[in-house]
Amino acid sequence: MRAIFSRRAGTYLMRLLPLQVYGRLLPREVVGLCYHVVSDRGLPHVRHLYPYKTPEQFEADLVYLKRSFRVASYAELVEGRDPNAVHLSFDDGYAECFSVVRPLLLKHGLPCTFFINTDVLDNRRMLAFNRVSLCLDAVERGGADAARVMAGTAREAGAPVDAFATWIRARIRDPDSGAEELLDRLCARLGVDVEGFLANERPYLTTAQVRQMADEGFTMGGHTRMHWHMGSTRGEDRIEREIVESCRVVAEITGDERVPFAFPYDAEGVDRAFLARVLERNPRVGRLFGTGSLRIDAPFMVNRMLADSPPALGRARSNLPGILSGAYLDEFLRPAGAP
Ligand SMILES: [Zn+2]
Repeated sequence: MRAIFSRRAGTYLMRLLPLQVYGRLLPREVVGLCYHVVSDRGLPHVRHLYPYKTPEQFEADLVYLKRSFRVASYAELVEGRDPNAVHLSFDDGYAECFSVVRPLLLKHGLPCTFFINTDVLDNRRMLAFNRVSLCLDAVERGGADAARVMAGTAREAGAPVDAFATWIRARIRDPDSGAEELLDRLCARLGVDVEGFLANERPYLTTAQVRQMADEGFTMGGHTRMHWHMGSTRGEDRIEREIVESCRVVAEITGDERVPFAFPYDAEGVDRAFLARVLERNPRVGRLFGTGSLRIDAPFMVNRMLADSPPALGRARSNLPGILSGAYLDEFLRPAGAP
């Protein structure tokens, strides 16, 4: 409790000083922001996973960033000519990147990098966590019967009935956990029509959209093929294949010589010396992006903080000042060398 109070008090105190001061105290090559989706709809495949901003709230972020920082493109980030610039990025390749985010970025003339899971391009497949969200949606709509189906499946798997969603979301990160099969079984029992959803709702970007976004000046990057957590994936050859293959598919679409890559979830548990060798062997792969907020990492790694969380009470005012000062505070309080 005391820790929570002091963090809140600390964040409040930090807000009294302009963020630029912290940028000077804790200089970073770049301040990375990571979003996933922006929509004013309750997206059934996302809304049970995390909250996200409306277009109005996201535009408030863009206006704030334009006023307070320089927003660097990926190319400018690589050149490294403007420390403490902000870099915007979106992970997972949702269709809203094209239909909602892109028009707002173009309106404000801001660069952005989009990291995509190449196996779901053109809505060929659905990422596991999106299927989990569809199942939770089915349970919400299906009442007691659907809840019983889910509880029965949880019991069969030896999973905690009350925390089944959390349990399965943790397991789908690991491609060898068997959670995918369990999830398919749950979808079938709940009547979740994954193929129908892909065909009708078109939740992910298409190849043509990716090409157009690249033509418009946005940077497109790889994010593995099916969003496995690299630190939970056994075998360095498999990790390398996910990085290289997703970047290769993107390069083929965009024609870019070098393609950045973002680690799904985070880059924890992946040996940095191994990653340096991957980059040496595969000149096509550009910078690697993690989600370690303001942490300094290997020279080829760019960390980012999550910015999806909407402002309290549904306000349209940007909550980025709070997110940024909270991140600087955490970095100040983190003992040297701690992860
Ligand atoms: Zn992701």
